[in-house]
Amino acid sequence: MREGGWEWEDDEDDLIDGVGFADPGGESALRAATPDNPRNLPCPTCHWPNRLTPIDRARGYQCDSCAVAQQRGLEIDYFDPEVDEPEDVE
Ligand SMILES: [Zn+2]
Repeated sequence: MREGGWEWEDDEDDLIDGVGFADPGGESALRAATPDNPRNLPCPTCHWPNRLTPIDRARGYQCDSCAVAQQRGLEIDYFDPEVDEPEDVE
């Protein structure tokens, strides 16, 4: 918790709510997971759990594998709860 006028330098798009990229310099647009921004939301495209943070969702992102698949014209690996095991279950 930061109170009392602490201000992050808002360096263009680098930090959103004080959160940087998950993969700085990489292709990913996703935000790093932090205690205030846990990666606990499913991807809106493939529905794999724990792929996005609340900031990612607010900005309309999808997960890295979907982004890469769409960029390269590959097939999206959709989550199938009958076959697949969720990742990173607490
Ligand atoms: Zn996805």
